[in-house]
Amino acid sequence: MDIVFNCPHCEQELAVDSSGAGSEIQCPSCSEKIMIPADAALPAPEAPAGVSHQSAGHSIATSAAAKVEMHLKVPVRDKPGEVLIAKPKPPLEAVARGAGKKIRVRTIRHSNCVEAGHDKFDEKVTEFLNEIGEANIVVAHTISYTHFDVGTQKLLTDYGLMILYRG
Ligand SMILES: [Zn+2]
Repeated sequence: MDIVFNCPHCEQELAVDSSGAGSEIQCPSCSEKIMIPADAALPAPEAPAGVSHQSAGHSIATSAAAKVEMHLKVPVRDKPGEVLIAKPKPPLEAVARGAGKKIRVRTIRHSNCVEAGHDKFDEKVTEFLNEIGEANIVVAHTISYTHFDVGTQKLLTDYGLMILYRG
């Protein structure tokens, strides 16, 4: 980055590297001693320098600004990156799971799970759920129903489970 200024004696336009700001030089045109201005020409070249921060600057101030810029950018880039990688996965898996499968329903009545006095309701429900797989369970509802019990010759109210699943 150069400081461009005019010689105060002969008005010759001079360009000097910004590292020379504030130092005294001899004008190559009129040979008068002149001071290189530190601020006069700086504001103008600073704007284009700020745009090209990524391409290494010459001065310490420019590289420091570039470092700050990097610190700000890194976390901003990381967060959306993680989200973008994590988000598309579940829908894709869900599509794969559901592909070629139909929605079905299975009703498991408690009264049908009692064999020779042994309550096998939990066992049968567990067996069925593991068979279809957790990913294929859409919803499970408890049901209440009345049935005629042959043993007691009475109408009994019992419970069961209605499972909506893909299979
Ligand atoms: Zn001069």
